[in-house]
Amino acid sequence: MAHGLSESLRAAFQGRVIEDRDALAPHLTDYRKRWTGRAIALVQPERTEDVAALVRWCGEHGVSLFPQGGNTGLVGGSVPDGSGRSIILSLARMNAIVDVDPYNNTLTAQGGAVLASVQEAAARAGRLFPLSLGAEGSCTLAGNLSTNAGGIQVLRYGNARDLCLGLEVVLPDGQIWNGLRGLRKDNTGYDLKQLFIGAEGTLGIITAATVKLFPRPAAQMTAFAAVPDAHSAVKLLALAQSTLSASLTAFELISGPAVELVLHHMAGARSPVENRAPYYVLLESSDAENEAHATARFEALMGAAFEDGIVTDAAIASSLAQSAAFWKIRHHLPEAQTADGENVKHDISLPISRIGEFIDAAGAAVQRVLPGARIFVFGHVGDGNLHYNVSAPAGSDAEAYRAMRASEKTISQAIYDVVAGMNGSISAEHGVGQLRVGTVAGYKQPVEMAMMASIKQLFDPKGIFNPGRVVARE
Ligand SMILES: Cc1cc2nc3c(=O)[nH]c(=O)nc-3n(C[C@H](O)[C@H](O)[C@H](O)COP(=O)(O)OP(=O)(O)OC[C@H]3O[C@@H](n4cnc5c(N)ncnc54)[C@H](O)[C@@H]3O)c2cc1C
Repeated sequence: MAHGLSESLRAAFQGRVIEDRDALAPHLTDYRKRWTGRAIALVQPERTEDVAALVRWCGEHGVSLFPQGGNTGLVGGSVPDGSGRSIILSLARMNAIVDVDPYNNTLTAQGGAVLASVQEAAARAGRLFPLSLGAEGSCTLAGNLSTNAGGIQVLRYGNARDLCLGLEVVLPDGQIWNGLRGLRKDNTGYDLKQLFIGAEGTLGIITAATVKLFPRPAAQMTAFAAVPDAHSAVKLLALAQSTLSASLTAFELISGPAVELVLHHMAGARSPVENRAPYYVLLESSDAENEAHATARFEALMGAAFEDGIVTDAAIASSLAQSAAFWKIRHHLPEAQTADGENVKHDISLPISRIGEFIDAAGAAVQRVLPGARIFVFGHVGDGNLHYNVSAPAGSDAEAYRAMRASEKTISQAIYDVVAGMNGSISAEHGVGQLRVGTVAGYKQPVEMAMMASIKQLFDPKGIFNPGRVVARE
């Protein structure tokens, strides 16, 4: 950065300015290593007022601001563009747990707080913060809210949007909005916080949030069940919901090939069930009473499922360690896929009732575009959310992987057309970012895109915040 600009930036706010190339490098490339941008600096303000001062500085100097949390996002939303006239904003120094109120069942934290530290603070107060996902050791509360993160317990507690009661936000003109209210009811006009949740940093910088807490469960049960097909998984979900009602906290579908991939790539991994199956379900219940009650209800569910033929084999975890081993298979899927080679990822949402039908139709559509393609399906099926990843045929060489990458758009379009035909969404929880900014307009109504563009223009007329993400540049 030019000396004068650097001096002026450093004088504008209190906090760190990092310009060193080596220190900047990990912040320029996204988690999937698909996008690398350029930035004149990474800045770490100390306080909300410093974020506001920095934002004003960016407006005055025509510099774009790319907010970055843990940089675990999967759609390239958290890394700068290639303009070289950008700053990465990190809230690493604004990561305090500000307040835990066990009677109001709320927690207030600064935006840079790592999700695991929010969960731990809630646990210390005897409460549960239920947002939970594979990246929880490094993703941040602001990143979670900006992406409206989902994770494994949406079925019971909702996604980040449902868990948020209040926000503090710095607007693109440098104003600070303190909306940190811990209220369950507040009908005083538009619910403004909802505009910033899921906006992927395009409308405001989330500097703090007040979130909901819940009682901790008295007992948890985890099972790994083999099912004959995806249709049976949906039937098992309905049965589990009627048997366990609100105690059902997680319901994950994993296809047979996806489990095989983990068993192949994860050291020491063992299949929880004896016989291989086309699909597996990882389900968890969280009981408010006690272990005996939890066990009785869970065993009743599994017994009924066997009787109906929708489960062919199952293992119920008898210890926390065994439950963790089941979950490790689920959480290791992204790494196993990386070890296996490139794949074309999709994060789609469907009416739950159509999941089996979708898997059949999308499988056929993919084979037409890429014969022999390997398909790895897993996801939060209790929320109608599937991660539907396509890989080159087994034994493919580098040339075949290049060909797959070259036909990525055609593969995705084949899948998205099936999704659209079933009234689904092409992004369930990962967001739009850079990955889908060119695609999303094809699957939303023009009036929706026009409203989104108007909102962006209203909040950020200079296009300072995360330009070219979510809403395409003019
Ligand atoms: C192994 C793994 C598992 C995952 N599992 C899930 C899952 O189950 N469910 C799920 O939903 N996601 C999942 N993700 C995706 C990712 O973890 C989430 O999107 C997470 O919420 C991102 O948080 P982050 O702090 O890393 O944000 P980043 O990746 O740094 O940023 C994400 C977006 O938020 C914006 N942003 C960051 N901070 C701010 C701020 N202070 N103000 C405004 N905007 C901001 C960024 O500009 C960017 O657009 C997973 C990722 C990995 C690597």
